[in-house]
Amino acid sequence: MNSMNSIPKSLKEIKSLLESGQLTCVELVNSYLENINEQKDLNVFITLFDKEALQRAKEIDEKIKNKTAGKLAGTVFSIKDVISVKDKLLTCGSKILSNFDAIYDATVIERLKEEDAIIIGKVNCDEFAMGSSNENSFFGPVKNPVDKTRVPGGSSGASAVSVASNMCLLSLGSETGGSIRQPSSFCGITGLKVTYGRISRFGLVAFASSFDTIGIFGNNNYDIGIALEVIAGFDERDSTSSDIKVDNYTEETETKFDPEKIKIGYAKEYFEEGLDEEIKKGILDKIEFLKQKGFAVKEISLPYSKYVIQTYYILTCAEASSNLSRYDGVRYGYRAGDSPVLEDMYVNTRSEGFGDEVKRRIMLGTYVLSAGYYDAYYRKGQKVRRLIMKDFEDAFNEVDFIISPTTPTTAFKIGEKVEDPLAMYLNDIYTVSANLAGIPAISIPVGFDKNNLPYGLQIMGKKFDELGLLRMWNEI
Ligand code: GLN
Repeated sequence: MNSMNSIPKSLKEIKSLLESGQLTCVELVNSYLENINEQKDLNVFITLFDKEALQRAKEIDEKIKNKTAGKLAGTVFSIKDVISVKDKLLTCGSKILSNFDAIYDATVIERLKEEDAIIIGKVNCDEFAMGSSNENSFFGPVKNPVDKTRVPGGSSGASAVSVASNMCLLSLGSETGGSIRQPSSFCGITGLKVTYGRISRFGLVAFASSFDTIGIFGNNNYDIGIALEVIAGFDERDSTSSDIKVDNYTEETETKFDPEKIKIGYAKEYFEEGLDEEIKKGILDKIEFLKQKGFAVKEISLPYSKYVIQTYYILTCAEASSNLSRYDGVRYGYRAGDSPVLEDMYVNTRSEGFGDEVKRRIMLGTYVLSAGYYDAYYRKGQKVRRLIMKDFEDAFNEVDFIISPTTPTTAFKIGEKVEDPLAMYLNDIYTVSANLAGIPAISIPVGFDKNNLPYGLQIMGKKFDELGLLRMWNEI
C-alpha cells in the first residue's frame, strides 16, 4: 500500500481489505499521509492531525479485531476549516481566526467520531466560505489537481481536492450557495448539498444562517450515503435542524427506480446564454439517455431564475454582515496592536483581520440593511426569495427531479476572475437556487471538455429526498 493509486476509492473495498486482514487502518492512514505529503504544492491542508489520526487508527484496528468497530471504521475524512473540531485551529481561512482553537466538537464531528471515522485534518477554503475559487484564503490559493494552473472551485475547494487526489476517502464541506457542488464539478468528484435542516449546523461557523448547510464530498453513493446516515438528523443544539426521519441511505442507495414512475424536468432557463457548448451537449445527451431508459422527461420553467444571483448576494451579504460582527478583536482571534481608543481597536482589527472579499460583503450587507435601503433591497430580496421557492414548489408538483449543468464552464485559471467579482459570482448561477429554496442537490461527474477538464451534472430534488438523489445517481 505505498502508492497513491493503491488506496481503493470505495469504503466497501476498504472494509473488505480491513476485514480480511490485508490492510490495517494504520497502513491506510499512512498511505493517505504519504499522498498528502507528495502533493503539498496543492496547498490543501491548514492543519494536519497526523499523530492523532495514526493513534485513532491503532485503536480502531483493535476494535476491528474484536468486532466492536463502528460503521465508519475505515473511513478517513478531511474537514473544511469552518467546522469545529475540539482543541484544533478553526481558521475559516481568515487571518482574524488564524490563532483560534475550537472549544468544542461540531455535532457532525461528534457523530463521525462515535462511529469510528478518522479525521486526518482541516482543509483550506475561501475566507468565511465566501468565494467560488478558493483564492480568497489567508492561507493562499488551492490548486486544481487536474490542471495546477486552474482553480479547484470554492469555497470548499480543498475539500474537493483532498478527495479527488486520494488524500482521504470523504470530506465534509459547507454550502451557502454552491460551495460543495461547484468544486465537485471542477475536480471531477461528487458533492451533496442537503436540505436545509437535514444536518445540524451546531459547530459550523455562520456565514448566512438561513442558507448554510454542511455537506459531503465522495466518490460513490454508498460512501456518501453511509456518512449522511451518521451525521444527519435532529440536534437539540440547532433549532433549525429537522426531526424528519433519516432514511436508511446505506441499504437503499443502490436500489433501482422503476423509470416509468419517475418524472424528470429540465428547466429551459438553465440552458441559455453563458453555458459552455460542450457542457450543454454533455448534459442534454444525459437527459436523452434517461429518456431512452424510459424515464418521463419534460421541459419545465423556473421563471425567477434570472433573479437568483442578485437575490442570493443581497440576502447572504445582509446575514453575513450581522454574523461577522462578532469578530471584534475582543472575543475571538486576532487583535490589532497599539490602538489607544477602543473604537480604533475594533476598526484596526477588522481592517487588518479580514480580506477584501469579506470586507466587500460586510459593506454590501450593511448597506442593504441600513434604514434607508432596507425596503428597497433586503425586504425586496426576501420577497423574491419566496417567489424563487414557489418556482420550485410548482416544479416539484410536476416532476420528481430537476437536472441541469452544475456550472456554466469548467475550471477557470487561477487569477482569471479575481479582479471581476461579478464574473466570479455568475459562476454560481445554477447552484445558488437550491440554497435559496432550501432543497437538496447533488453534482455528479459526467464528462470532460476538450481540455480534459471535468464537469458535473446537477440533480435537484424535493425537500428531504437526499435518498432520491443518491439513487438517481445510479441511473446516470
Ligand atoms: N460562491 C458562493 C459565494 O461566494 C458560494 C459560497 C458558499 O456556498 N459558501 O457566496
